[in-house]
Amino acid sequence: MIYLDNNATTMLAPEALEAMMPFLAGSFGNPSSAHGLGREARAAVEKSRISVAGLLGAADPSEVVFTSCGTEGDNWALTAGLDLFSGRDHIVTTAVEHEAVRNMCARLEDRGVRVSRIGVDADGMIDPEEVAAAVTPQTAVVSVMHANNETGVLFPVAEIAHLVKKRSDALVHVDGVNAAGKVSIDLKNTAIDVYVISGHKFHGPKGIGAAYFRRDIGISPWFAGGGQEGGRRAGTEAVHQIAGIGAAAELVKDLSLMQRVRLHRDRLEKGVLETIPNSRLNGTDDPSKRLANTSNISFENTNGEAILARLDELGICVSTGSACASADHAASPVLQAMDVPYSWAMGSIRFSLGRYTTDADIDMVTDVLPGLIADLRSLAEDSHV
Ligand code: PLP
Repeated sequence: MIYLDNNATTMLAPEALEAMMPFLAGSFGNPSSAHGLGREARAAVEKSRISVAGLLGAADPSEVVFTSCGTEGDNWALTAGLDLFSGRDHIVTTAVEHEAVRNMCARLEDRGVRVSRIGVDADGMIDPEEVAAAVTPQTAVVSVMHANNETGVLFPVAEIAHLVKKRSDALVHVDGVNAAGKVSIDLKNTAIDVYVISGHKFHGPKGIGAAYFRRDIGISPWFAGGGQEGGRRAGTEAVHQIAGIGAAAELVKDLSLMQRVRLHRDRLEKGVLETIPNSRLNGTDDPSKRLANTSNISFENTNGEAILARLDELGICVSTGSACASADHAASPVLQAMDVPYSWAMGSIRFSLGRYTTDADIDMVTDVLPGLIADLRSLAEDSHV
């Protein structure tokens, strides 16, 4: 199998599995218990908190709260901002957020919150000044993603936070789910208030995430219950999952491997774009403004779902940028926001590489794809005759 869908999820690293095992078999204590078994569990939780804080460049481990996933952290951040500024009713966000933010904003809108969605240019980039200019005295939260999951485009989140704070004390939330482990993050030197990550995107287990809340903001508890996670998120900690995310954070903190990932990605991108007619890259080609592992490529007048299915038959896992499951066969909202024409957007494929991608994986894809696309295009032409 060739796995080029690392923005969807990643393989559990052997190091993370090893860290989890003692807490799945044997060491089953509750971290809140005062006996030895409980202390063992507590020690594992706090060790992981230090590792995650290190990955994020937090000033203090206490700023890290464990959650169940990225979606939870994103939902919490938006809610926390509105709770913090109870008289305010406005959120500023972007047109290209993940559903975890996009659909939560839509739900809040149904409840009377006003939402300003800042658009992107044809490269998928945002203008930080435009984000800041949308902030009003009624703004409770500014929510922007760090790395776009579909295109890999990076938003200048530190600059956005800085500009927002010059005019408002609104909570600045960053969805860092697809950035963590791929780019360096140093939250203590930014004005970002909340930064959300998810373990399964960087070789940790599924079912565990973390939210960084800058220590001087007083957030209200997310779940009502016991005093876990400093009273911010009640519920007995998932110790094995937390041990896993901590080990994964330690592993990906060293970004040197991303250089190899970038070389693989560049070779894939160049190989595909040079050999396949009517193909184009979606998202900026400025390497400093795009994740090193992601290529979103459109093949004009093809169908992304069909490409995905053909690649799947060959054991190659990728994603599409379309949503054919929906009745209207809509292009992805991210590509729509970038004004990618429909005939291109419907034939888009996201290749997302990872630390376990090999040279042979890239050779295989660049070998099979030109013929596969040509075949699908001729089939489509035949069906129009
Ligand atoms: N935000 C982004 C940018 C994502 O890519 C994802 C997952 O695809 C999420 C949020 C949601 O994360 P989770 O699957 O852990 O809920």
